[in-house]
Amino acid sequence: MWNEPSAGIAVSALAAEAPRLPQPAVVASVEPGSIGDELGVQPGDRLLSINGQRPRDLIDLQVLVGEEELVLELEDPDGTVHSVALDKDVDEGLGLGFTEALFDGLKQCNNACPFCFIDQQPPGRRRSLYLKDDDYRLSFLYGSYLTLTNLTAADWRRIEEQRLSPLFVSVHATDPDLRSRLLGNPRAGLLLEQLAWFAARGLQVHAQVVVCPGLNDGEALRHTLLDLAGFAAGDRPAVLSAAVVPVGLTRFRPPGDGLLPVDRACARAVIAQVETLHQAFQSRLGSRFAWLSDEWYLIAGLPLPERDAYEDLPQQENGVGTIRAFLESLDRATRHLPLRLDPPRRLSWVVGKLVAEALQPVVQRLNAVQGLDLILHGLPSPYWGQEQVVTGLLTGADLLEGLAGCDLGDGLLLPAVMLRQGEPVFLDDITLAQLEQRLAVPIREVVDAEDLVLACLGGPDKAA
Ligand code: SF4
Repeated sequence: MWNEPSAGIAVSALAAEAPRLPQPAVVASVEPGSIGDELGVQPGDRLLSINGQRPRDLIDLQVLVGEEELVLELEDPDGTVHSVALDKDVDEGLGLGFTEALFDGLKQCNNACPFCFIDQQPPGRRRSLYLKDDDYRLSFLYGSYLTLTNLTAADWRRIEEQRLSPLFVSVHATDPDLRSRLLGNPRAGLLLEQLAWFAARGLQVHAQVVVCPGLNDGEALRHTLLDLAGFAAGDRPAVLSAAVVPVGLTRFRPPGDGLLPVDRACARAVIAQVETLHQAFQSRLGSRFAWLSDEWYLIAGLPLPERDAYEDLPQQENGVGTIRAFLESLDRATRHLPLRLDPPRRLSWVVGKLVAEALQPVVQRLNAVQGLDLILHGLPSPYWGQEQVVTGLLTGADLLEGLAGCDLGDGLLLPAVMLRQGEPVFLDDITLAQLEQRLAVPIREVVDAEDLVLACLGGPDKAA
């Protein structure tokens, strides 16, 4: 799995079993009119404790703030400490944002997966790209995937006591030996017992399986999905959904790792296998339950399932149904298009080559507006050595190479998913400002379908 912590989530990392004393929570923002604002809290102030307790992370903070009577201990940037007592409604927050989500450091993974994307990067990039996030708190807060292999007894107790559910679990295989081999960790073989633990406590997970051809596809995949479905029945299923995604391989991976890329034949075989299982899951669970990411269909050269097939999009963040959901949002956003644009606009929109064809209907619909000329650029990634690449993996270098010499028109529309959340920087550390300067074209980030339409029509910038 690959979860680069967003800017503002965690700047410090920990070994799997080395707890650190929580540091003060540094205030990043204060909501106008909030309790924090009324108290005169300023960005840069440090929250030391709430009712005498120092929060370990945003989860603790939320729990501690859920009292009616609070005593906050705050420290100014000059070191002066204030103690403030206040009464509030139980559900009223403080209106404070913090520079980090974890005040005691990030729990990193203790696995050695041969397909790890983090190990398939070039050296020398920003530090956060090499952090192997396997932190159950980030999983709960932001939906990042974890393996459950680094949890201490205290962590398990906390998950139960604070009802940290749902979590998002990278399964890959349920067979204990196979999972241990895939994760390079004997502790990985405990997964089925761990799922039973969640089930016994009414706690829930979403699962994912990264399919590595020849390792955990075929019968192993069938076995895994059936095992997971065994925890998916009843009023409060322990496993809510299972995403099936293809392994991502780059040119930086170590030689002789034995991994094979997913090709068209493999993609078709996996689709046929999982779609066959859907019938059984539908009748037993009332849901398709196992979700194939869009990439499978794009690699296979097969049409994407209709939007209804994705039910309530339980794994959209994992690239499952993302394109259908985008097209659906686009339908809504283009309901009232003008007949013509005056003055006319000529714009470029850049996406990964893998998804370009599926997005052609979007371009056609927008280009029906007279005076609008939207040109779609579906680029490969020489940086990663991937011809067929998803949009989120395109780097600044890919854009510089792929768009060199192109007439980009009046502006370039750039999906925000290419940039680090919270910072205008690509995966290769090229910044948005550098790209704009080198391409000599104004660049506008687009965050979703509505924003794309707004950008095409010259409306306000949602990302600004
Ligand atoms: S080694 Fe495995 S569990 Fe750890 S970050 Fe890499 S893929 Fe994820």
